[in-house]
Amino acid sequence: MRKKRLNKKKVFFRLAVAAVLVIIIGGTLFYLWPEIPVRMQALNDFADPEPVEETDDPAAVEPGDDAAAEPEEIDDPFEDQEETGEPEKEPDKEEEEKEEGEEEIVTTPEEEAARPDQDQKIISDGDYLLALVTKQTTLKPGYQPAELKAVPSYMNPSYQMYLRAEALEHLEKLWNAAKEDGVILSIRSAYRSYETQKQLFKDYASRHGEEEANRFSARPGQSEHQLGTAVDFGGTEADFTARFGETEQGRWLADNAYKYGFAMSYPQGKEHITGYIYEPWHYRYIGVNHARQWKETGLTLKEYLENQPQEFE
Ligand SMILES: [Zn+2]
Repeated sequence: MRKKRLNKKKVFFRLAVAAVLVIIIGGTLFYLWPEIPVRMQALNDFADPEPVEETDDPAAVEPGDDAAAEPEEIDDPFEDQEETGEPEKEPDKEEEEKEEGEEEIVTTPEEEAARPDQDQKIISDGDYLLALVTKQTTLKPGYQPAELKAVPSYMNPSYQMYLRAEALEHLEKLWNAAKEDGVILSIRSAYRSYETQKQLFKDYASRHGEEEANRFSARPGQSEHQLGTAVDFGGTEADFTARFGETEQGRWLADNAYKYGFAMSYPQGKEHITGYIYEPWHYRYIGVNHARQWKETGLTLKEYLENQPQEFE
């Protein structure tokens, strides 16, 4: 009997504890229920910041490019191309060919252009305004442009950039002319040293693989930004994407930049020639006369410069 009573007491006690727990947990859940999705969202936001929010962090911007752009942003050109159904057929073709198990290694023109030449030519003088900088022609690691000058902060107050004096002088004219037309430009990237480009390319290559990274980012010594005459324009919500070409800023530059000596280095649909994807934000200063002549020829900048005298070591 004694045992039984004890057992009854125990059972009662446990039931009471269970009931209290149910009330506490149930009450808490009931009270918090509307908050839960909100809190989960907050956690997500924290873990995975909205990609659209671009930082103006110098380190983030410096990396890029084309020849040179920010890592996060550089992802965009691809997404963009896919969205707009740009001619991204090559990867598929390549896969098919691999699946068929063809022994012959077939390369697309893009892959050919992207492949660094084994016999690199070393550019004698980077200060030469028409120096040809490609995946086959390389600047020396120690090359630094003459007369680097600070880009005025009104073009990008976030951090200090540098450009060759002559290029900067014309960039200021270009910027003012755009402003008069109601178009406000921002400069996202200008001179980049060999070392900066080296780090940048390394970062991209670790994320995308070397070959893929080299479609939108130059290897060290092969970036026009090392010349101190190349500029990445921005100031839109489409910076460093193919959509920049359709913005007010992108269209103004395509129509007018050449009048101030700037040429778009990597136009649309010319990756098989230039080795780089469409970069409507990347312009290089080659002098007003040459830029006008280049515009008249309709050639890519690479082809135009190949027709100019070049010196290699
Ligand atoms: Zn660039």
